Amino acid sequence: MRMYQIVKFKDQSAYATFWGCDWNCVYCIWKKEKWNLCLPQKVKDELEERWRKNEIEFLEIDRIIKILKDNEIKMLFMGGGEPTLDPQLKPLLIAMKDIGIKSWIITNAENIDDEIFELADGFTMSLKAFDRETHIKLTGHSNEKVLENFKKFASSPKVVAESVYSKGFIECEEIMKIAEFLKSINPKMRFRIDAEVGQNLDEKVSECVEKTRSILPNTYKIGSGTGGEAPDLLYP
Ligand code: SF4
Repeated sequence: MRMYQIVKFKDQSAYATFWGCDWNCVYCIWKKEKWNLCLPQKVKDELEERWRKNEIEFLEIDRIIKILKDNEIKMLFMGGGEPTLDPQLKPLLIAMKDIGIKSWIITNAENIDDEIFELADGFTMSLKAFDRETHIKLTGHSNEKVLENFKKFASSPKVVAESVYSKGFIECEEIMKIAEFLKSINPKMRFRIDAEVGQNLDEKVSECVEKTRSILPNTYKIGSGTGGEAPDLLYP
């Protein structure tokens, strides 16, 4: 597979990182930092050194399942990179289902198909811009397929929609257009607005969450993620 990192959190969930994405979002964190942001800098530096020396392998399904079982993982979040580009994703989801480990996929929503949607337990589907031209400027890709997939899948309670507030690109006006679109699919949809990392946008995002709730009541943001406890590194 293209999975090269797994970290474990206190609640017995884990986060696996996949290599590769064919989009080029201007704010992509993964393209700047391939190691989990919650890991201490010293650990990330060591991993980077091992990566340079070619000491880190992509994991095979059997090994992933063993790591998850040995560490009593109940839920695996999968992000990256773009997990849906991995041809082995479906067999992994099947293997996890067989032993009762839940799966949650964080995706740009372009490549989800019926089978992936059936197999996984939850999705964070990103809608980076509603306006087509803005989407192309931001990601290098059209959002045509993404919008189709939202119409097809996002009325399910398995889905949380997500957008990134990005100064000068995706501000509250665009976020509210996204919310209108989401409302047309499911007025109860959960919609998470994230602040672009490192841009001090917490206050702007809070204001925008308030405004957007007039369209989609289940709009929220999560904390900035600083100050939390570092996860355990299960691989490498
Ligand atoms: S879709 Fe996600 S992983 Fe791909 S470039 Fe954009 S932010 Fe990065």
